[in-house]
Parts: sequence; structure tokens; C-alpha cells
Amino acid sequence: MAYEPHGCQVGTLYKTQVDPYVKEHRMKKRLVVMATFLAVGLMTVCGWTQEKTSPHWYRGMIHMHSYWSDGQAFPEESLSLYKQAGYDFLCPSDHNKFQDQNDYWAEVGNKIKPESLQRFEKKFGSEGLEKKTVTEEKKVKEKAEDGSEVEKTVTVEKTLIRLKNFDELKKFMEKDGNFVLIPGYEHSGGSQNGEQVHINAVGTRCVVPLLRPATSEEMLQQNVEVLDKMLADEKTELGKETLAFTMLNHPDWRWYDVSPEELVGYPSIRFFEICNCGPSWPTVDGCWSCDQFWDVVNAYRAEKNLPLLYGVASDDTHNYDNFYKDVTTAPGGWIMVKAPELTQEAILTAMHEGDFYASTGVTLDDVLWDADTKTLTVNVTPRQNEKLTVSFITTPEGFDHTTAQMNLPKEGDRPARCVTTWSDEIGQTCATSTVEHAGDGTPGMSEVKCTLPANSLYLRAKIESDQPMPLPRKGKPEHQTAWTQAYR
Ligand SMILES: [Zn+2]
Ligand SMILES: [Zn+2]
Repeated sequence: MAYEPHGCQVGTLYKTQVDPYVKEHRMKKRLVVMATFLAVGLMTVCGWTQEKTSPHWYRGMIHMHSYWSDGQAFPEESLSLYKQAGYDFLCPSDHNKFQDQNDYWAEVGNKIKPESLQRFEKKFGSEGLEKKTVTEEKKVKEKAEDGSEVEKTVTVEKTLIRLKNFDELKKFMEKDGNFVLIPGYEHSGGSQNGEQVHINAVGTRCVVPLLRPATSEEMLQQNVEVLDKMLADEKTELGKETLAFTMLNHPDWRWYDVSPEELVGYPSIRFFEICNCGPSWPTVDGCWSCDQFWDVVNAYRAEKNLPLLYGVASDDTHNYDNFYKDVTTAPGGWIMVKAPELTQEAILTAMHEGDFYASTGVTLDDVLWDADTKTLTVNVTPRQNEKLTVSFITTPEGFDHTTAQMNLPKEGDRPARCVTTWSDEIGQTCATSTVEHAGDGTPGMSEVKCTLPANSLYLRAKIESDQPMPLPRKGKPEHQTAWTQAYR
């Protein structure tokens, strides 16, 4: 059904207060655009025109929630906070729901806390909010004069606010250009034994019901099947590639619920969260880290000649309080995508090709994989007084396949688990470089290269800063980090 605007003046709703960081970011973009115009101008004068726009790095985040599910913000608020923080694209991914209803109302005092509404109105104004008051009859128990309890019917007033749907949000967010809103949702829930499997479907407006069999293994298998079918059906219906994809979220939550060996056999899942900076949870010494998870999947996938798994960092944002305190510390994890233009198609195409990296604070100037020489190049400029360690990580062919088991007892609401551990031959560091800025003069860009060692399965780089995360998160890397994809 075609979308009909509900008398809501999308596009002129909210005043924005641009953060200084964003101003600088946008200024840099403008300079790049100006430089491109000048360069194209010169090329034209010289009789040579550029066929393709040179690629640009775009910042985005593809895992966040709003009042459409269990997030603590209006959808336009959650998206605007990120846009003001300098993001170029977002994918709102509510639990088991795509935001396509025209008449989804949330109650003030129930889903929407009154103080959250006040905060929203103070920052964005209230013109764009569509409110209505409804009355409802409610039965209440009261004490009569003789002390007995009597039931009475009272009329209560409720204030409801309509949540903007995806098409309205897209129009609002993209009104000035320079921004892309990508549809998606988080296919998520628990198996009968209490293990959680959460998979983001990114780039699609389709939703399929969640299947909840006995274990996380069965849950992964059955839900990957229905999601694969959903995306295949969507492509058939549209008659073209949709570029939509699935991403395994937070495999370590809550209790190492999805094991890496399970993911080896589902190559249609090309993406996973190397760092989910949302709700934090404790890890257990000796169990796999998300880095090890990644290397195990890719070692086995490379051995079987299956497509490698790509790593994404995200915020899995539910609570937006930190954005109101300090915009520079609010975001935790994001991706930088190298694409020729800022469109959904260009962003998703680049992601399918592995032209992106995950970051929790380290910005790379460029990442290049030379498929002929099997060389991975990372260009990075350290910030003032920053020291960066660039580690190249690989796994040799014929690695030690021995595994061991660790039994984790039940803990709180986390059921007892048996966790597999792997040999250290998987995910070993084959080269390390340090890049430092001494603190005087302008920092220079460093180029760090590594060639895939002989008889090795893949190569990736991890770039760790000595600067701590602005907001420390339990079970996450303590220092700001960037992860390139794995290449072979
Ligand atoms: Zn989740
Ligand atoms: Zn989530």
C-alpha cells in the first residue's frame, strides 16, 4: 500500500543544534567536494573526464532501537542524535518489527517517560509530535467507610503520541541530502533452553516470524533458513538484487550463546558484531573473545573455500542518555564504509565487497587489499600524543584443529553452558608495527603493510590506540580500536 502522510509536516519539524565536531566533519566534506570540483574542472580542461567519483569514507551504524521496540527514545530523536554526531547512514533495527505501521501510538507515562518527553521537546521542539488524548474506563478497588473493599469504574485520560514510520523517518532524515536511512530489523529472541540468537536483517523491509526451538543451535539453523528464504523471496519479487544481508549480533551475549563452529556452516551470514558496545556483560577468562570467534569462523571457512565473515562494530543503542550528556562519548562502535557515493545501494555494495572497517574510536585514512600481491595496507594518522599498535592477524593452513571444552555453571539467569576452546594457532599475530605521534608539529600519516605469509588462510589487521574508550564497557576492548576485514 502506498504511504500516505498523516498530516505530519515531515522535513520542517525539528530545529537542529549542530555539534562543533559535526561542523568540522561537514567542513571537511565540503572541502573534499570543492577539491573534487576543482580536480574535475582541471581534468575537463585537460580533455580527460573522470568516469567514476572517487570513493569516500562514510560513517554509519546498523544496530539501534527506539520506542518502536525496547529503545528509550522517539525514532526521530534516536536518528537525529546520531546525525548530529556526524553519522552519514543508519539502520534502525527494532526487535522483530519493521517500522511500517501508520498508526502506532505509544502512551506517555507507560512506554514514554514524561521526563523523556520533556527532554525531547526541549531539544527538538514539539511541533512535529502528533498527540491525542483518549479516555478509558478502568476498574479500581477502593475501601468503603465500613472498611470493606469495593470495585469502582473510573474514567482515565491517556496521552498518546504517534510514532513516525520508516517512510516518514527516511524523508525527515534525508531532507537535506548527505544522509541515508537503511531499512531493517533485529530478528531476535530466546530458545526454549534460554539461549539467545539475534540476527539483524539489514537493507530489507520484510519481517518473518521468529522460530524458537529447544536450543540455540536449532534456533540458528531454523532462523537462518527462514531469513535466507525471506531475502530470496524479496529478490524474486523485486526482480533484482536487494543487497540486503543478515548479521549475527553479539554472539557472546549472554553466556557465549552462539558458538563460532555453528556459524562456519551458514555462509549466507556474511557479517557479525566484532564489537557490540551496547549493554555490557561480564566475560569469562579462557572462553573465546569476539576476535577469537572471528578467527575460528574464518579459519574454517577459508579452509572450506567459503566466503569469509566480515566484522561490524555497533552500539545496539537502547538508552540515549549519554548523547544528552556529551555527544563525543555517546557513540561506542560504528563502521566506516568506503563507497563512491552516499546511497543505500553504494553502501551495501561496498559492505558486500568488504570495503569497510569497524571502529570504536580509531579512524583510518585508508585500507587497501592488493589481491595480486596478497598485501594489506593500512594508512593511519595518529592523533596528538597517540600511540597506535597495528597487528596483522592470520591462521596457517593445516592449523591445529584440537578443541577442548569448558563447563560454565549456571549464573543468575544464564543457563549452564559448555563452551568450546581452540588452539592458539588460530588467529595468530604475524607482524606488528607501532605508529606514534611525538606531540610536536603536525602528525604525519603512516603506511603499514603486510603480505599474507606463505601457506596462510587469510589476513586481517587490528589497530589499537593507547587512548582508552571514552566510556569503558565491561567485556569490551579497553582501548579505542579499529578492525579491518579479513582478506585472502
Ligand atoms: Zn540483540
Ligand atoms: Zn539490539
